[in-house]
Amino acid sequence: MKMRCGKTAIALMIIIGFMSSAFAFFPRRDTNIHIPKTAQWGYAPSIRVCKISPLSVGEVASALQWWKDLGYEFDFVYSDHCQNLIKYGTITITLDRGQLFMNNLLGRTTFYADSETGFIAWTIIELRSPYTDRVLEHEIGHALGWMHARVRGHMMHPNHFDGGWSPRGLSADVASD
Ligand SMILES: [Zn+2]
Repeated sequence: MKMRCGKTAIALMIIIGFMSSAFAFFPRRDTNIHIPKTAQWGYAPSIRVCKISPLSVGEVASALQWWKDLGYEFDFVYSDHCQNLIKYGTITITLDRGQLFMNNLLGRTTFYADSETGFIAWTIIELRSPYTDRVLEHEIGHALGWMHARVRGHMMHPNHFDGGWSPRGLSADVASD
């Protein structure tokens, strides 16, 4: 979805969900993993954990550590009332308002990027309650600009059932498209 913003700037807003049910995909040979990346941060984003988020600041920090181990950097992680959901320079983590359950999704990330520079301006991660293991790590991947990889056992698999903890192809030093 492309949105016109101001006079000339065209920004890119993407909403991407994480399926909770089994879904048939043809297995793909995973010898040469290439995961699409649509955008990236120009600096280390801060992480805002809304009071209504199903995960605590400490739990969020541990999901961030998974990405730190891959070479990504983040600024402060803090708790907030989140009066405004959109906050520039920030990955906001909050509780969804029931739409995820209705659409059979475990989590969803909305991110907003400048389509010319490819730099991300803000992202919002919505989680369901009760929370399902590994969903936040997956959504942080989207918040960093990564798209889905239909590789069995992979963190960025679009289906939770077929996904897993494999970080292949996700290192911070992998060149973006
Ligand atoms: Zn996803």
